[in-house]
This record gives sequence, structure tokens and C-alpha cells, in this order.
Amino acid sequence: MIQKNKVVTLKYTLKDEDGEVIDSSTEQEPMAYIHGIGNIIPGLEAALDGKGEGENVQVKLAPTEGFGERDESLLKAVPRQAFPVEDLQPGMQFQAQGEEGPEIITVMQVQDDQVVVDGNHPLAGMSLDFDVTVLGVRDASEEELAHGHVHGPGGHQH
Ligand code: ZN
Repeated sequence: MIQKNKVVTLKYTLKDEDGEVIDSSTEQEPMAYIHGIGNIIPGLEAALDGKGEGENVQVKLAPTEGFGERDESLLKAVPRQAFPVEDLQPGMQFQAQGEEGPEIITVMQVQDDQVVVDGNHPLAGMSLDFDVTVLGVRDASEEELAHGHVHGPGGHQH
């Protein structure tokens, strides 16, 4: 049964409120996470709590249960030279070091000497419709708990 400190392997399809598929796991690469420690968004974690192998969970999450509401203060202008990319285009995404770890920033506008970027998570402000099947549940190892992430298939390979 899924509870705190279990490694959960699952397959999922994520749709937006219009039913468009935004993201999904693949046959080759299921997703794996450690339950109860904030590896995944809170609403999905809550929906999976207590579920078992083979169970299918369908859950619709409001933005606040997902990646949060959009924060317009995260739109910022940064110097063009901060991007070591010649052909910088709106819509490109980069990983940046934020105050709370790595975050994805999206290029919104490219000007001669500055670039407007959006530090909101790409799925911020969106309602999320998850269809999840639990493929496996096992105990996390000491090492996985110490690292805060899963090792092996669907997790970190190191
Ligand atoms: Zn590790």
C-alpha cells in the first residue's frame, strides 16, 4: 500500500482542462518517486495515498493543488549575455538555479540587450487532469531516503 517512504512506480497521462495531453510516462520509462516527502505535487500525492499496485487513479487538480497560481512578479528582464545561446527564441526553456533549487525559466521576449523570462513553472496556473496507474510499491532504501529520490529505473542513475 502506498504510504510515507514507499517507492511508487507509476504510469500516467496528464491532460489540461481542454483534454489535451500535456505529458505522459512511456512504456520504457515509468515514473518513480518516494511517497510522502514532496517529490511530486501535493494533490497527486494525496490522491495516491493508500492506493495499491494495479489501481487506477483519476484526479482533477486545481492550480493550487498542482504547480500553484501564476506569479506575475516572476516575469523578469535579464541581460542578453546571461544566455550563451546564439539563436535565442521565445518559448525556449532553461534550467536556472533558483532560491529553492533548480527551476525552469521560459524565454518570453528577446530584445537587443535584454531578455524577458518567466520563472513560473510551465504548468503554473493550470488545472491538471491526471490518469495514473500504480505499477509497483516497495520500501525505499536507506540510501534513497538519504538522497530524497529514487534510484534505478524511473529515478536517478548514479
Ligand atoms: Zn541518489
